Amino acid sequence: MVPIVGEAAKTIDGIAKAMKVTFTEMLSTAVTEDYPDGPLHFEGRYRGVHILQRDANGLEKYVACFLCAAACPASCIYIEAAENTEQATFSAGERYARVYNIDYNRCIFFGYCVEACPTDCTHGHGFEIASYNTVDLIYRKEQLMAGSPLRLSAPLLFSHCVRILCPLRWHNTSKKPRR
Ligand code: SF4
Ligand code: SF4
Repeated sequence: MVPIVGEAAKTIDGIAKAMKVTFTEMLSTAVTEDYPDGPLHFEGRYRGVHILQRDANGLEKYVACFLCAAACPASCIYIEAAENTEQATFSAGERYARVYNIDYNRCIFFGYCVEACPTDCTHGHGFEIASYNTVDLIYRKEQLMAGSPLRLSAPLLFSHCVRILCPLRWHNTSKKPRR
């Protein structure tokens, strides 16, 4: 008998707490974003399209360490590494990512890759990436670099140009990352 009473009390307590939240929200002021006519206000923890950062000297921060690709359970990051040379230095480390693709058809924006990255790859707030063509959702390094004029500004135009001009560089990102 006592356990039943205890269970009933817990259930009633749970329902009361839930109803309190419901009625509090019903009586509070509604917050409506005026999108797309006005700016959106994101919570600090909102995770959108990634940003690949540059250091103070303008060099790419990431060093093709593959940690992000290894951490991603959706296998949506594809990297090809290359060595920096004296004639062509792209990053501060020994290597740089010659190819860095993220397949946003698969990404679920939860951030294991960002947590794994030793060089501050971050999530931005970009979210307007919907497309009728799944190929357009494979983003390249040039679209993900911080400060890049291509960054989210003309993703469809960019990917169409790449497809037309560089068909052989169109990689299948479903491949497991190479080490
Ligand atoms: S946010 Fe998650 S799914 Fe998206 S690339 Fe990073 S680890 Fe992969
Ligand atoms: S973890 Fe960071 S530095 Fe390493 S390959 Fe990924 S983005 Fe580049």
